[in-house]
Amino acid sequence: GWRSRAAFKFSEIDDRFHLVKRGSRVIDLGAAPGGWVQVCVNRGAASVVGVDLLPIEPIPGSTLIQADFTDPGVDQQLIDLLGGPPDLVLSDMAHNTVGHRQTDHLKIIALIEVASDFAIRTLRPGGHFVTKNFQGGDAGRVLAELRAAFQEVKYVKPAASRKGSSEVYLVALNRK
Ligand code: SAM
Repeated sequence: GWRSRAAFKFSEIDDRFHLVKRGSRVIDLGAAPGGWVQVCVNRGAASVVGVDLLPIEPIPGSTLIQADFTDPGVDQQLIDLLGGPPDLVLSDMAHNTVGHRQTDHLKIIALIEVASDFAIRTLRPGGHFVTKNFQGGDAGRVLAELRAAFQEVKYVKPAASRKGSSEVYLVALNRK
């Protein structure tokens, strides 16, 4: 079975955009407990490298490391483990909210920014990027960068996201 409710959200996104191809090489940021990794492997990805602050039980067909993605050198470590540029970069990274609206908001934006910068720097041309975002989140600078770097950028709210939650995903298609 799937390890997380998040697996259903990513399945929906992938059903719609067909991001995971047979043979795809994928990097998954904030991968624990591993639902998105399971979906990628299940849909024929050739290799999946995932990172999380938390340990992840092994998933055959993937390489999972425990690290803070924002620490220096972790980005290069992921690329080295994958053995080349990714076809698909995914980020479902979210921190534990502290309950202070502005602080939480800034932390969310910071994670979206590091994930987007990484995707733009590393994806092969034609590659895709998915990141968690929040409705009303002012991802203005990131959005402009993504629009410049990809052919298309879409907002998606999966049915599997809780009703009333402000969670949405940004799907950036075809790295130029
Ligand atoms: N997509 C996952 C799945 O399908 O199972 C669920 C991911 S969960 C919503 C968000 C994860 O982001 C948490 O496990 C958290 O530890 C991780 N995370 C938050 N900040 C991180 C960071 N700086 N580096 C690595 N992982 C991080």
